[in-house]
Amino acid sequence: MNLLDFSWTEIEEYLKYKTAIFLPIGSVEEHGYHLPLSTDGDIALAVCNTLSQKTGILVAPIIWYGYSNSTRGYPGTIMVGIQELKNYIFGVLLGLKESGFKTVYIVSGHYSNEHITALVEAGKNIRGIRVKLLDFSKIDFSDILETKPMHACEAETSLMLYLFPQKVKLEKAVNEDIAFEGDKLKKTKSGVFGTPTKASKEKGKLLFERIIGELEKLL
Ligand SMILES: [Zn+2]
Repeated sequence: MNLLDFSWTEIEEYLKYKTAIFLPIGSVEEHGYHLPLSTDGDIALAVCNTLSQKTGILVAPIIWYGYSNSTRGYPGTIMVGIQELKNYIFGVLLGLKESGFKTVYIVSGHYSNEHITALVEAGKNIRGIRVKLLDFSKIDFSDILETKPMHACEAETSLMLYLFPQKVKLEKAVNEDIAFEGDKLKKTKSGVFGTPTKASKEKGKLLFERIIGELEKLL
């Protein structure tokens, strides 16, 4: 149930029974040779849409641009600054509040620390609206995955193989390890941090079902 598909009178009717909404957040950033720039948003939207089917809670339009400093410089990565992101999310939350929503569940597909902090801070101290981050990055997937979730990795590639197989060019996937230059993350050639060649549709299904199961408990 996508907010954009309804008329204002239908939303008015919805708000008589429910006042919650999901707010998906993506990123526009490189995900190696094998995944599209849309990967984070695709996953966030799929999570929100599935939770919406289960709960009847509406999904707000996705916010695509995020803060993705560690993949900066690859053509196609388009980020906004922390402050711009925070201000923009703050504005959207105020808009949702003015519209009559009282609870906003933020679901981000992108998990850099600064990006997540900006989302959380944007939702702090807004009177009359409860903002909750549904964080799936801290769920334990160690029994499903052979390698740690990083970026364009086994986890993300598996999720995409399950959710949007037509968007994955698995034959182009390469594995690259995380490395540092001083305290700065060193860029990899492909943009991958992790082991996408270990990805599979079956793992993606298990990951997705666990994400949905764990987030449902938080609603
Ligand atoms: Zn990602």
